[in-house]
Amino acid sequence: MVTKRIKVYGIVQGVGMRPTVARHAASLGIKGSVSNLGPYVEIYAQGEDQNVGRFIDLVKNEPPKRAAILKMDVKEKDVPEYKDFSIIESAKTSGEIFVSPDIAICDECLSELFDRNNRRYLHPFINCTCCGPRLTILDALPYDRERTSMKEFPMCPECAKEYYDPATRRYDAQPVCCNDCGPEVFILDDAENRKGREAITYTRKVIANGGIAAIKGIGGFHLACNAYDNDAVRRLRELKHRPSKPFALMMRDEEEVLKNCYIEDYQRDILKGHQKPIILLKRKEDSLVAEQAAPDNPMIGCMLPYAPVQSLIFDYDDGIEMPRCLVMTSGNLSGLPICRNDDDARREIKEYCDVILTHNRKIRLRADDSVMDFYDGRPYMIRRSRGYAPLPFMMTRSFKGSVIAYGGELKNTFCVAVNSLMYPSSYIGDLTDLKGKNALKESAERMLTLLETKPTHAVCDLHPSYNSSAAAEESGLKLIRVQHHYAHILSCMAENDHTDEVIGISLDGTGYGTDGTIWGGEILKCSLDGFERKGHIRPFLHTGGDIASREGYRIAISMLIDIFGDEAEDKCNELGLIRQGAFRTYKTMHDKKINTAVSTSCGRLFDAASAILGIRYEQSFEGEAATALEFKAMEYEGDKVFECMDLTDGDVIATDRIIRYLAEEKLKGIDTRKLAYAFHYMLAKGVAQMAVAKSDGIKTAALSGGCYQNKLLTRLTEKELKENGFNVLLHSMVPPNDGGIALGQALYGMHKINNQEDI
Ligand code: ZN
Ligand code: ZN
Ligand code: FE
Repeated sequence: MVTKRIKVYGIVQGVGMRPTVARHAASLGIKGSVSNLGPYVEIYAQGEDQNVGRFIDLVKNEPPKRAAILKMDVKEKDVPEYKDFSIIESAKTSGEIFVSPDIAICDECLSELFDRNNRRYLHPFINCTCCGPRLTILDALPYDRERTSMKEFPMCPECAKEYYDPATRRYDAQPVCCNDCGPEVFILDDAENRKGREAITYTRKVIANGGIAAIKGIGGFHLACNAYDNDAVRRLRELKHRPSKPFALMMRDEEEVLKNCYIEDYQRDILKGHQKPIILLKRKEDSLVAEQAAPDNPMIGCMLPYAPVQSLIFDYDDGIEMPRCLVMTSGNLSGLPICRNDDDARREIKEYCDVILTHNRKIRLRADDSVMDFYDGRPYMIRRSRGYAPLPFMMTRSFKGSVIAYGGELKNTFCVAVNSLMYPSSYIGDLTDLKGKNALKESAERMLTLLETKPTHAVCDLHPSYNSSAAAEESGLKLIRVQHHYAHILSCMAENDHTDEVIGISLDGTGYGTDGTIWGGEILKCSLDGFERKGHIRPFLHTGGDIASREGYRIAISMLIDIFGDEAEDKCNELGLIRQGAFRTYKTMHDKKINTAVSTSCGRLFDAASAILGIRYEQSFEGEAATALEFKAMEYEGDKVFECMDLTDGDVIATDRIIRYLAEEKLKGIDTRKLAYAFHYMLAKGVAQMAVAKSDGIKTAALSGGCYQNKLLTRLTEKELKENGFNVLLHSMVPPNDGGIALGQALYGMHKINNQEDI
């Protein structure tokens, strides 16, 4: 007879860990106890040596479906004999904590939802021990109903019976409820006071008739309309002032996805998995999805319903014929945080829709949908949020203490580090105005409460006027500042649990450089101690200030003036780059440096190339021109090896030579697709050559920055580096764009406070 104490770390709260452990114990005649201690589940297992061993294997290999075990700690203990195996109620402790992300509705709940004989038939809030909201309803840990927004809904006797009975699917399911005791859906500010069934039927009617509905889900509101109805989608675009940025789609089921998209097995697993992110899939030629849903885009972003109320929008017993594919875009003002309560919705999205279907279960923390692309059969995250945040990354290197990193200015997320665990937050959004900044501060505070940690330091960007930096300053904590592109590389290192030196290639939009100019095409030698700028793309004049990021042709003109001198005017005219006024105006601005800044931004280089090739002269959202350039290159089917000029000029990557080549070849009438491909090819060569030349014996390279969302650029850079004997670190579960930098900042902060260097 032995007794072992087993500590199980990971996602073990709110996933039915304790009942599963109790079942395993019963199957082997093990006695002892299991309790939920916040940071971990603690098990005492008493029995014959062999059985205890088998029990430990069972816990490890057959945990509940949604659990993620990161670590198990087993010690032999000398304790008195147990009479049985019991589940001990939650005790409140502190330490390393794992908060479960929200979990999409499971198959069992989905079939109960549409089972007329089930008492939760058509209940918009059905959930169980292994599905339902988690992070978004949580006030504090341990995860118990009392500490969630479900505490306003006392369980009815029937629900309580299930909740306390280990034999049911809802044992210990904190958000458990039913038609009698659960929250309720209703139409917001409705003269006829429609709620429950009536509210759902009314909403369905609006959508079926080509209207737009706002629907409150798990992490915030969505705007929904029929994605097969071009007029409905166009109207949503007009109302939302969003001319061309693709909308996410929600399809009724897998069958509908197959009708519209090509899908690989690994993508299907994620489409149907329990996180339900938006995944980017190639659109079929005969897809019926309205052109307006994703104009000029070969890809569409699809997800399946994950909140029961979304399933009810597709299927209900009211006889209304519903479309099987809906636009399901975040309910917010462009770029700003998603609306999470009725007041937000009234203020911000009421004008965009014909009806608001809301409910009275409060959302504590907003969570936008995650967006996932794929690279080489692996996830390649574009936006990490609902379903993933705040799962931590565990660093092998041991750190002590706690910091909070406030991230960047666009696509903001923040990250809390506690010892060797880094918890990146859900997506907050753009911080261009006060609402974004307030959302950041409010969410950050809530996360610190949940994680029960008090950081000593705040980490932020070098940029003097970022709102994220202001939020960090207002925290009252000691500040640590990190250069933007270095933080990108650090985030890639953190995700790969790599803490040795690397050569970082940071290809990005814009970020504040240590010399006060705009950086964005950087070769950085990086360690956790700091970085050296070893190379960068040829600096150019970023003309037109802020509008240049929308109007790539302005940068193209400026580059061509530098490259061609007196011949520039003719070239610009022939290339159709003069969009308004006369060449003279641009030339004067360029020569006198009116409203200009020096820049090495790779994002703007893409915009300029896109304009020179006549693909996009300007753009309505960030990355539009660059993405269109990538799509054009993907259409090229000719010979993929190009004669490439020497692109290394000291510590400058001679990107001007690529731009000259593009302009000259375009004017010769060479195929735009070929030139688009050549641009990617040469740029990848250029940055890789520089990385090789400046490697100082380092054999690991890390690729990060928003431009590495471009998979063609990623593939070509990776190939070039591998051919030069490099090991290449890439992103996967953390976005290469600014949504990822908080993780890098946090790693830097933790290293700094553990070394106590000049802070
Ligand atoms: Zn379920
Ligand atoms: Zn009930
Ligand atoms: Fe960036």
